[in-house]
Amino acid sequence: MQDAPNYESWGRFPKVSHTDCFFPRNPPEIQSLLEKTEHTVLPRGAGRSYGDVCLNSGGALIATRFLNKYIAFDDEKGLLRCESGVTIAEIISSFLPNGWFLPVVPGTKFVTIGGAIANDIHGKNHHKYGNFSRCVEKIGLLNSSGKVTICSRNENSDLFHASIGGLGLTGFILWAEIKMRRLVSPRIVAEAIQMHNIDDFWSLSQESNHDFEYTVAWIDTTRRTKNMGRGIFYRGNHETIEHKNLLRHLPKRRSISVPFDMPEFVLNFRSIQLFNELYQKKESRTNRPQKVFYENFFFPLDAVHHWNRMYGKRGLIQWQCVIPPTQQHKAMNQILNTICNSKVGSFLTILKEFGEMKSEGLLSFPEQGTTLALDFPNTGQAVHQLCSRLHELVMRFGGKIYPAKDALMTTENFLQFYPNFQEFKQYIDPKFSSSFYRRITQS
Ligand SMILES: Cc1cc2nc3c(=O)[nH]c(=O)nc-3n(C[C@H](O)[C@H](O)[C@H](O)COP(=O)(O)OP(=O)(O)OC[C@H]3O[C@@H](n4cnc5c(N)ncnc54)[C@H](O)[C@@H]3O)c2cc1C
Repeated sequence: MQDAPNYESWGRFPKVSHTDCFFPRNPPEIQSLLEKTEHTVLPRGAGRSYGDVCLNSGGALIATRFLNKYIAFDDEKGLLRCESGVTIAEIISSFLPNGWFLPVVPGTKFVTIGGAIANDIHGKNHHKYGNFSRCVEKIGLLNSSGKVTICSRNENSDLFHASIGGLGLTGFILWAEIKMRRLVSPRIVAEAIQMHNIDDFWSLSQESNHDFEYTVAWIDTTRRTKNMGRGIFYRGNHETIEHKNLLRHLPKRRSISVPFDMPEFVLNFRSIQLFNELYQKKESRTNRPQKVFYENFFFPLDAVHHWNRMYGKRGLIQWQCVIPPTQQHKAMNQILNTICNSKVGSFLTILKEFGEMKSEGLLSFPEQGTTLALDFPNTGQAVHQLCSRLHELVMRFGGKIYPAKDALMTTENFLQFYPNFQEFKQYIDPKFSSSFYRRITQS
């Protein structure tokens, strides 16, 4: 056991009280931990969730760091079976040189397969492919009585649909079988197009969703009125010309690290406005398609290790909603206006249209509509009050908030956003719990 009183999530908010963290090396060790521990337990991946879904304050965490082995690979079907602690970064570096890639990747490669399944994550190709769970064929799920259940769409399918997007509450995913996809080049043919306001976003998104596998926009939330929604629209496709050499010799990416917690005054409304101004200028230099390596396209933030330290000790509040298509225009105008007027700047704001593919998990977040993700420096009350105003708007417009990025939803919010929770409850393992679960059921 390692004593980890300061176990944190990526947003570093909320803070946790004493939490024991265990690092088992194989399933029997997990079984014996589940038998012996008197606390509630929560599986822990790489801790890249922003809020408290990966925290279990006062309880125990069972980390998957050493459950990181490949079990089998069928290179005819592209079927990989691996332990749940294997990360997306590890899979890419082992399999991309042979032309295999994951069908869905999030904005960081430092997440585990267990974490990707338990939050049923999405990527820039949601409109074409859907959620991560679409490439999950099977999982092996261990419960607190020591039983391993194999779950798939055909076998124990109810437990399968509860466990994808199941927030780590239905049991411990020991391993998963993932269907990979073929690539012939590690590059993306990408474009960065300047948007003057949110209307440009709606038209570019409409125009691009058919021909481009990946679409996403960065917007500046410090601009008001006619410039609201100013930003850059990114779109791209995998390069289709074969480049075996580039695949075999993937370039090593240079990265830097934020060495310590920045003082809080570094990130304020003015500095965020300045950053947004410079970013807009830098990214709008070229409108022509460019061939970029997958890492620069998918994982730009990973080039700066520990970038969350830039927000200082109090951390950051991530906030992500999705609004259904019939309400998305009106809702986004109101939400963005509310944010602009609050003068609580967001450093990185992302806008993307999700596709119509139905989510398979009982508590999966993505659904058809437009998703908006923001991160605010956690300056205390002002940000918390802003988030509760935003929650009210999301409730009014029939949308929902993403648990992986949440630290402030109330029980009332959660029950409206996730009506399937009543059905989900029967699959919660009695020994499993999380800070998130207690917050949304006991507030
Ligand atoms: C820079 C950045 C960019 C991001 N971009 C995106 C994005 O584009 N799309 C997106 O959807 N998300 C995104 N995220 C969020 C991230 O993908 C998810 O929070 C993901 O679940 C984190 O995985 P993890 O391995 O760190 O798991 P953790 O954060 O440690 O845990 C997440 C959940 O998974 C559960 N869990 C972990 N392992 C297991 C297991 N073996 N069995 C059962 N349950 C388990 C935990 O209990 C917890 O509930 C981003 C995060 C960051 C920091």
